[in-house]
Amino acid sequence: MIRDVESCPYCKAVIAIDDGTGAIVFNPDRADPEPCSHLTCFLVILEVIGRSANGQTTEWHWEYGKGLRAGRAPMPIEDTDCAVYLMDYPRHPSHLIPKGAHVLVGNTAMGREETRPGSGDLLVVRGKESLTGILDAWAMFSPRPGQVVVEFQRLRKLCPH
Ligand SMILES: [Zn+2]
Repeated sequence: MIRDVESCPYCKAVIAIDDGTGAIVFNPDRADPEPCSHLTCFLVILEVIGRSANGQTTEWHWEYGKGLRAGRAPMPIEDTDCAVYLMDYPRHPSHLIPKGAHVLVGNTAMGREETRPGSGDLLVVRGKESLTGILDAWAMFSPRPGQVVVEFQRLRKLCPH
């Protein structure tokens, strides 16, 4: 099943995930398989829980200028710099936030569940088995993603981890 993960606050383009194959799908309802021009970076983490896939966790990272990387969690540290920055974004002091216009969207599965009960867990069908998926996802969008990505590449080096 193709499931919308996040959408761009500037143009409504969608980042979706095919929870059967684990593929990231841009704009599943449009004839436009590319990310929109505002996407700066995203982090998607899907943990699948069930008999045949207990705790199997996959991460997808996308960064402006670098494109999409996917793999079993935890990803190598050079790949997770952006991921750690996005996860900690709400707790960053103002000097670690890019000055360029940007919007961060996303939440943990637990956060979504608190906001909208029933939205935290996903049903993931793998073969004949129905499993529980726990999806955490964040995406940053900007009218000038090239500028903002340079800023946070610098800022994330100043983060405490
Ligand atoms: Zn957009």
